[in-house]
Amino acid sequence: MNKKQKRNLIRILIAAVMFIALYFIPVTGVPRFILYLAVYLEVGYDILWKAIKGIKNRQPLDENLLMALATIGAIALALYEKSGDYAEAIAVMLFYQIGEWFQSYAVGKSRKNISALMDIAPDYANIEDENGQLEPVDPDDIEIGTVIVIEPGERVPIDGVVISGTSSLNTSALTGESVPRDVAEGDEVISGCINLNGVLRVRTTKEFGESTASKVLELIEDASSRKSQSENFISRFARIYTPVVVISALVLAIIPPLFLLLTGQVPAWETWIYRALIFLVISCPCALVVSIPLSFFAGIGGASRHGVLVKGSNYLEVLSETKTVVFDKTGTLTKGVFEVTAIHPDHVDEHHLLHMAAHAERYSKHPIANSLRLAYPDEADDCTVEDVEEIAGHGITARVNGDVIGVGNSKLMEKLGAEWHNCHKPGTILHVAINGTYAGHIVISDVIKPNSKEAIERLKKNGVEQTVMLTGDAKQVAENVGKELNLDRVYSELLPQDKVAHVEQLLQEKKSEKARVAFVGDGINDAPVLSRSDIGIAMGALGSDAAIEAADIVLMDDDPLKISTAVKISRKCLRIVKENIWFAIGVKVACLILGAFGVANMWFAIFADVGVMVLAVLNAIRCMFIKP
Ligand code: ADP
Ligand code: MG
Repeated sequence: MNKKQKRNLIRILIAAVMFIALYFIPVTGVPRFILYLAVYLEVGYDILWKAIKGIKNRQPLDENLLMALATIGAIALALYEKSGDYAEAIAVMLFYQIGEWFQSYAVGKSRKNISALMDIAPDYANIEDENGQLEPVDPDDIEIGTVIVIEPGERVPIDGVVISGTSSLNTSALTGESVPRDVAEGDEVISGCINLNGVLRVRTTKEFGESTASKVLELIEDASSRKSQSENFISRFARIYTPVVVISALVLAIIPPLFLLLTGQVPAWETWIYRALIFLVISCPCALVVSIPLSFFAGIGGASRHGVLVKGSNYLEVLSETKTVVFDKTGTLTKGVFEVTAIHPDHVDEHHLLHMAAHAERYSKHPIANSLRLAYPDEADDCTVEDVEEIAGHGITARVNGDVIGVGNSKLMEKLGAEWHNCHKPGTILHVAINGTYAGHIVISDVIKPNSKEAIERLKKNGVEQTVMLTGDAKQVAENVGKELNLDRVYSELLPQDKVAHVEQLLQEKKSEKARVAFVGDGINDAPVLSRSDIGIAMGALGSDAAIEAADIVLMDDDPLKISTAVKISRKCLRIVKENIWFAIGVKVACLILGAFGVANMWFAIFADVGVMVLAVLNAIRCMFIKP
């Protein structure tokens, strides 16, 4: 509860106590009016003020005006009738305020979830001065390559590489993963994680504004500006609905009595004005206006707790309609950590082949490159690596110690004019050419992630009809993975542009506009597909800006189960949104009809308004607690 909420809660409680007390105080006439007016103003002054401001700004037709009109009307009517019955006007305001308070509390709660993430960017970083003393400075001022010190309990402020110290990092704010990650010298650390035990000295590799934590924050701040169709529907609806209601209320107040008057009967103005006022209270669209954005907000907040970042409510909506999920293989369904299983050199020795290949891959971020570097740990010697050219879907060429090295698949060999030959060993074959001559191949193999199978099963359970895998890897490897995981379709040996073409094909095959196609990749050379599909999901995004940028939904770690978590949350969230739309509109319409025919009184109207709002808000909050 923040200060404003506390203040309003106290105000509501005071008003409620006074309201009950007034019931037992037997005053009449002017003193009675003054007492009631005091309570009315105490509980409703801000609504009245907002209504006046709305008129001033020429946007008067909102729920504040509806409430102000209805309650002032009710008081005026009581004055006119000399009944002294002002209780209804106060009750309307009181319950309306309770509803408002409740809603602001709920929004605050889901915002808190997001701000657990918001907290991820610390406002200082420690640097050492000449005397070895730590000095906190503004992280914005820290240049790339600066050494910063992170003490236990502090958050990593900027992405970097550990140069000394060992520790465990708590990454849960970013990934939802509770198991700490151990880091030692040479490991990358990502801003936003909490350093749990050791002191770490880190050389920064990015500026503060470009670091993971800042990127993630930017992304979440933008999320609320991207509206879903449901939200747009509601704001359009409210824009038409409110004037219609005000005009209908006027008609209800004037036409029937006029008609009665003209036909020579008693016009009963009070009755009809009273009905019009009830009509106004009932019609307040706040349940919808409040609960729909809140549902999305809570859904996005709840997803972020599981390490799923959704860039906007529109994406949550599209994800919920996903019928086809297309996967990239390497790094998505498989670990992307290849082990070297065989080295078959042609006319050089094994060591040299691996040496050259690992060096050519020195600067590449591709999972294959990481694995080759791991397999050749003496990599950091004084060889020169220049003219690196990475050819997506083919491999890489580079000049190592003056020799032109090509590492990649058979397509690359053909491009380089090297005469390659195949290998009987199962796995991904990396051919190596030295100065355009074939020098042999390295066989590497990747393993399927332990959760991939379950992730596919859960997707099917959550309404996904078709699973497809696209990969640049060899046919045999791809088909084995496809069989193991029960994928519906597998396409292999694709270049990045072929992947786009396949996704376009799938988009055309769609049975309806709403049978959406999602693509899941690791963001390495699949940005074009991520943006071409209806919805792009990037996984393992910790530390990869390209993925965060290109995707609509970002999975902070690389657990494939997160994909089904995301789909499940989106579907539940949208179901709750639809429930609220039908529930709120249904109850309102029913009550409006009853009100117009005089069956409903003011108390009934209050229930219809505040009751529906509270129920809708409670329902919306469920979005935050959807279990994966
Ligand atoms: P995937 O679709 O499985 O993610 P990519 O499109 O990234 O695969 O790569 C397809 C193929 O291109 C790989 O299987 C490999 O043969 C080759 N390749 C791509 N990048 C590299 C690299 N850096 N080094 C060696 N081979 C590469
Ligand atoms: Mg890939």
